[in-house]
Order: sequence, then C-alpha cells, then structure tokens
Amino acid sequence: QVTFVGSVHLDRMLRLAALPTPGETVIAQEGWSQLGGKAANQALAAAGTGLVRSVLVACLGRDNDGHQAQRHLEAQGVVTELDWSERLPTGSSVALLDAAGENVGVVSPGANADLSAESALRALRASPDLLVCQWETSAEVLREVLTAARAAGVPSLLNAAPWLDTHRDLLALADHVVVNAVEAQAWTGTDPQTRPTRLDSGHPSVVVTLGAGGVLLYEDGDLTCDLAAPRVQARSTHGAGDHFVGVLGTHLACGMTLPGALERAVVSAAVFVERLHKNLLPALV
Ligand code: ADP
Repeated sequence: QVTFVGSVHLDRMLRLAALPTPGETVIAQEGWSQLGGKAANQALAAAGTGLVRSVLVACLGRDNDGHQAQRHLEAQGVVTELDWSERLPTGSSVALLDAAGENVGVVSPGANADLSAESALRALRASPDLLVCQWETSAEVLREVLTAARAAGVPSLLNAAPWLDTHRDLLALADHVVVNAVEAQAWTGTDPQTRPTRLDSGHPSVVVTLGAGGVLLYEDGDLTCDLAAPRVQARSTHGAGDHFVGVLGTHLACGMTLPGALERAVVSAAVFVERLHKNLLPALV
C-alpha cells in the first residue's frame, strides 16, 4: 500500500497557441475541467499501475466539485480517506497549456488548507509500505505525519513541490526527496541541468527530475544514477512530475531499489507526456 497525503484540485485547463504576455488577452482553442492536485495526480498514477493499493488522504469542500472529485478518484481505483471542509470550497487551479506542451498555472488551495493532522496520522495506522507527501499541505500537518511515520518505521518520500522556503526544515524528516530542476536550484543554489557530480543538499537521498533531460539520483551528495528520458514527442507535460512520483512510489513500495524504481518511472512518465490527459470528471446525477 502507498498512502498519499495532500491536495486535490479542480483544474480549469485552457489550451492556447502561445501563453499570453502581461496585459494581453488571447482566445483559447479549447477549455475543460479536470481533476488535479499533486496528491490526487500521484494517487491516480499509482492506482493506474495496478500494482498497489493506492490510498489518498485529503480534504475536499462539501460542494459539487468535492463530490465529483471523490467519485472520479474512486472510479479510477483510488481508495479515499477524506476530510470535508464546511467553510472552504474544494481547491481549484487554472492551467494554461501552449502548443509546445509547456504549461503555467495558479493554485487556490481552498479546502486543502483544512486537512487535519489527525486524518493524516490515522492513515499511518494501516502501516503503508510508503508514505508520499508534497508541499501543497501545511507545514504543521506535514511535520506531524512525517515525524510519526519515522517513529512507526514507515518509509517516506517527500516531493518538495511547489518550492516553499517556509517548508525547508521538513526535508530532513523524509527518507527520500524528489524535486524538479527549479526546486533543486532553489534548495541547493546549484543548477542541476549541468548534471553536477555532487549536489550539496545535506540530504542522503535526493531525486532530481529534469523534464526531457531525464532524472538524477544523489546519494549522500554524490551522483549515483543518471538516467536519460526516452525521446518522445511531448503533447503536454502538465502533471508529468506527479505521474513520475506516483509510479516511483509504487515501485519503491513493491520493494524495488531506488535505481530500479527510477527506471520504471522515467519510462512511464515519457509515455504519459505523449498524450494530452483529460482527467474529466463524471457528470453529476
Ligand atoms: P515537473 O512536472 O515537476 O516540472 P519534470 O518536468 O522534471 O517535472 O518531469 C518529470 C519527469 O517526467 C522527468 O524526469 C521525465 O522522466 C518525464 N518527462 C517530462 N517531460 C518529458 C519529455 N518532454 N520527454 C520525456 N520525458 C519527460
């Protein structure tokens, strides 16, 4: 079992020829709403492998978006353990995708801010093979759940995304950290795109994803694994990092070594970006 603790969003997706510049209004070619949020995306990727029980601990608003999100997750095989906020709407986001498959986004956390430490801690009672968290959750909740996981002997993987300086001290509480190039640079001050043979983060196990450039593994600061990504024609990189983390976590939970799990994740993420995924929500009845 892999337990994901974190965020669920309703994403409003807009596909455009080119991203607008400040002050500019452009007409989108297409728009749709889909399920998103880092934890939700990762849990869906894990469930999609069919290899593990994928459990998602999250907080939704008691609104149409929240009920649709729950139905979609469960229909896709994710086991949900949900809090329901009475005061905040389900989290939401807007993402703009350009013709080259690049994307920019804005997130409104909404009910995700009401995820309680008690719910997160309850999720550890089932003794999952791996706990996976991201930084779309409050530092207090993350601190409690990562500390409890360590005390209980549950291995943890922290996806330090999106980067927040306020969350920096949480890195030491996780067994493995996954960051993309931007986050790695913010953390260490080093540009990982140059594929440095040492990355001084102070953490024993750091995975750095480099988009089409593949992935690097640093153990005790030394580069121990450098994997190229398969060359593909990317249609959308939106959610690629989340898909990667979900598949990586799945294989770690199945007992694979970190380099072995990285090989699986890099192939699966390449296949993922070849398609424009629309995690469309079921209609309300
Ligand atoms: P994020 O989405 O968090 O910014 P990345 O862009 O680094 O993360 O992508 C995560 C992983 O997805 C990469 O390590 C790679 O394995 C895969 N990936 C992303 N973009 C591509 C691409 N254009 N071609 C092949 N693989 C890709």
